[in-house]
Formats: sequence, C-alpha cells, structure tokens
Amino acid sequence: MAEDYKTLDKQYIVNVYNRIGAVLDHGKGATLYDVEGKKYIDLSAGIAVNIFGVCDDEWIQAVETQLHKLSHISNVFYTEPQTVLAEKLCQKTGMKKVFFSNSGAEANECAIKTARKYSHDKYGDGRHTIITLKNSFHGRTLATLTACGQDSLHQDFGPFVDGFVYAEADNFDDVKHLCETNKVCAIMMEMVQGEGGVHPLDKDFVKQVEAYAKAHDILIVVDEVQTGNGRTGYLYAYMGYGIEPDIVSTAKAIGGGLPLGVTLFASSTEHTLTDHTHGSTFGGNPICTAGAISIIDRLTPELMEEVQKKGQYIKEELEPCQHVDHVSGMGLMIGVALKDKDLSDVVEGCVAKGVLVLTANGLLRLLPPLNISWDDLKEAIAIVKKVIDK
Ligand SMILES: *Cc1c(COP(=O)(O)O)cnc(C)c1O
Repeated sequence: MAEDYKTLDKQYIVNVYNRIGAVLDHGKGATLYDVEGKKYIDLSAGIAVNIFGVCDDEWIQAVETQLHKLSHISNVFYTEPQTVLAEKLCQKTGMKKVFFSNSGAEANECAIKTARKYSHDKYGDGRHTIITLKNSFHGRTLATLTACGQDSLHQDFGPFVDGFVYAEADNFDDVKHLCETNKVCAIMMEMVQGEGGVHPLDKDFVKQVEAYAKAHDILIVVDEVQTGNGRTGYLYAYMGYGIEPDIVSTAKAIGGGLPLGVTLFASSTEHTLTDHTHGSTFGGNPICTAGAISIIDRLTPELMEEVQKKGQYIKEELEPCQHVDHVSGMGLMIGVALKDKDLSDVVEGCVAKGVLVLTANGLLRLLPPLNISWDDLKEAIAIVKKVIDK
C-alpha cells in the first residue's frame, strides 16, 4: 500500500522534496503511524511546526470550536480570534503591532516591504539595501529567495530582486563594511540559522550589529520563523540575545499545524504600513488564529525550562558518539555534524528503526515536539545513537 502512494506521488506531484521513506497516516503527540501501522517517535515536528505534537487536544478544541462559528471572512471585517491573538503576541513580546499572513516567506516579504517603506518615508529613494547573512534562509518567494545567503539557491530563477547584500555571519567588520559601502535600510538575520546548518549566532556579534544599526537608523529584522514560539527555550530566540528588534517575523509553530505567518512591529515601525500598502486574503484566518491562541497561551517559562533541559540532554547523549563531530543548536533546535558517516544512511537508519529525523545543510537535524515525554525522548535518542555508531 505504501508503495502505491509513493508511485502516485512521483507521478502526480512535482518532485521537489526528495521525500523520506515513510507514508504517514495518523498519530498523537510525538507518536506517529504509517499506512502499514508501523510506529514512529517524531523528532521532526513537521519541521518545527508541531510544538505540541500532532493532533494536540487543546489545539483541536480551539480549531473545532472556531470551525463551527466562523470559518473565514474577509480582512475588510473585524474578527475576535485575530484581535485576541494580536494582543497576546504584543503583550508577550512588547512589540506594538502585528500583520497576519500565511507562511514564513510571506511574513518575511512583509518585513522586507516594511523595512523599505520605513526608509523611503524618511530618506526617499535609494536607501533600500538589506543585509542578510551568508548561509541564511528566509523563504522561497523571489524576494525572500534573494534574501537567502546561499549561492546554491541563486542558480535558476534570475533576475533576482535588487537590493540584497550578504555578510559573513559572526563577522561584524563585514557587516560594518557593507553598511558603509551600500545605502542600507535593514539587517535581517536568524538568531539560529536553521536550514543553513543549525548555527546559533555569536552573542557579541549580534549585540555589535544591534548597536551599530541603532546608531545609524538601520532596522534590525529578526527572522523567527523556525526559532520562534519556544523552540530555542525562549519565547523568541532574540530574547535570549537581549536585543530589541524593530521587526520580527514568525510562522511555523505559531499556527499549531495550520498555515499562519506573523510579522511583529516595534514602536519604530508600527506606523510604517498604512491603509492599502499591504494585505492578504487568508492572512489571520479565524480558524488559524483561534488555533494559535491555544498555542501561545501554553508557552510558559516552565515549558521553556523544560525545552532547555531536553536540549541539553540530547547534546550530552550525542556528543560522545564516535561518529559525531559536534552538536550545535539552542533549546530543542539541534544539529548533529557527523564524521566518517553517510548522512542519508543515518536518516534512513533512524526511520527504519522508527524515529523520524531531518537534515539541514549536511547535518542531522532534530526538532522534537517541545512536550515530547522524557520516555519517548530517551527511547528515540538511544535509537539515534545506535544508528550513528552502528
Ligand atoms: C521555514 C523558514 C522560512 C520559510 O517559511 P515558509 O512557511 O516555508 O514560507 C523562512 N525563514 C526561516 C528561518 C525558516 O526556517
């Protein structure tokens, strides 16, 4: 049966994913089953989406209730779930306003447009360049693809969007040099580079960039699409760096499994987007935002402490492995660099033994649900260790 789905997939779905073997069917929390009834422990969480696992009860309750109340209505009208979620997000972050969209890429498009408009409003034409970091990932629309600091993504789709330059991560002099040689409106970065290889930025670097940017009225845009909503053991990773961004984008986990993007604005940028300068048909859909409220309410300091502990446990377990070169990351966003070991063999080995894992730029990547039970986590990590050192 699984083979039938794989055949149909290959025949009818554009082949951009290089999918891993399992044909998944149902599950609860961190436990998933494929169409043949085989059980898996999930260390992937739908790529940092399912922070409370799949089919989480509270989220189902919130979504189901909303489904029977109001499924969709245009953004020309007000709705309760949007406003409640917006207030909660602002109260929890100190940001002033939000814009809702449907994905990480869209949240970043909104951030990019806002950064450009902020500068255009104040300084006129020309000061529109955005600095991003090498190895960054910001999305797959043309502008966000251009923003990605990875040459391998810049091969096939030119001409790209003007106005992006790339600095070496953790190299403040490079950022400063690019600021001095371009008319820069913003610096955009992930606090922990995800797709680029689970690399947490250096704290001093981030602080230096912030100080320089503030002194030159250059906006700090933090892409928290993957790092956000508790993944790193902080509500948003920038909070662990002690900076105050002008714009923050997030998506993935905030929707609990439904599509939702959010761009948050500090007092510096809260008034930049004005009537008809941006919009979205589905953005902030009542069902997605109702579900998101049930997620954001549970991202408590106690959970954040738990995330740190579980992340530490994984690091301590995997670091001594013979074929592990090093373990990187923050909280439950973990990269494992292997040595003398084929990555795809390890991924296939884990899945064959019932543990779902991911990769990121040559690393094994682990993004378990934040509330995975200690028993499941220990069982899964024991299997990962065995597969790596087999
Ligand atoms: C996943 C991701 C995106 C893109 O999000 P989509 O919802 O796939 O558009 C952007 N930035 C970062 C850091 C991501 O991890």
